Amino acid sequence: MPDIDCTIHGGQVAVITGASSGIGEATARLLARRGARVVLGARRIDRLNALIADIRAAGGIADALETDVTRREDTEALVGLAVRQHGRLDVLVNNAGVMPLSPLDALKVEEWDRMIDVNVRGVLLGIAAALPVMSRQGWGHVINVSSIGAYQVVPMAAVYCATKSAVNAISEGLRQEQPGLRVTIISPGVTETELAVFITDLRAQELMREYRKVFIPASAVAEAISYAIAQPPEVNVTELVVRPTGR
Ligand code: NDP
Repeated sequence: MPDIDCTIHGGQVAVITGASSGIGEATARLLARRGARVVLGARRIDRLNALIADIRAAGGIADALETDVTRREDTEALVGLAVRQHGRLDVLVNNAGVMPLSPLDALKVEEWDRMIDVNVRGVLLGIAAALPVMSRQGWGHVINVSSIGAYQVVPMAAVYCATKSAVNAISEGLRQEQPGLRVTIISPGVTETELAVFITDLRAQELMREYRKVFIPASAVAEAISYAIAQPPEVNVTELVVRPTGR
């Protein structure tokens, strides 16, 4: 028996960036289980292929494309795949993100650039790919994964927090400009994923070891994304903050 409940997202077409691990992967699995047709992008195509094989084996509908969100041709191709396969795009989850934290005086300028490229330009390039399709359709839902870091700046996270503040500003601007679209900001607190694995600064590694001891699972953030999508068309959940209890 297929493990699919189509009553929640029945047939909706969702593109998810950064779906090869963590929140993106959990969201892909949950939306597909609830009947969405998911189209997944990230750079690690081997992991995406394993994920879509899993989803298909459970009776779901999933496709994947190797995607670097910092390349406009890649985000265009990802959205293009969704439209070619399914004839429409209902939801874009701009989830891909990186967080190589460090104090500013470490001058890890290349890591600053990477955060700006992936977390800000990547979100914009996702929007650039999806907006013409959604405008043509007259509907669509853009979900941008931000962070509680957009609200709470802590030492070593200045650039990361700045990128997430930018995501919030872009989301609010898009919502105001496009009354036909739903736009949602999802702001997770500490979530158990690979996000902190790529921190190279020793002081930031130490800080994160302490800070990230209390966390929620990626599935909790996926549930928030699913909730926002599942609302009736006239209801726009503009933001959800999801964090560990007591934090
Ligand atoms: P992961 O590191 O597990 O996932 C990050 C995803 O982003 C991966 O699938 C990675 O795929 C993808 N990615 C990174 N760079 C690129 C790129 N250039 N092009 C395409 N995809 C890329 O971490 P999370 O699941 O935690 O991160 C998801 C989002 O959640 C991020 O935006 C993050 O900022 C946000 N967030 C996470 C929190 C947490 O505590 N975990 C808290 C607050 C917000 P690949 O390497 O294969 O390209």
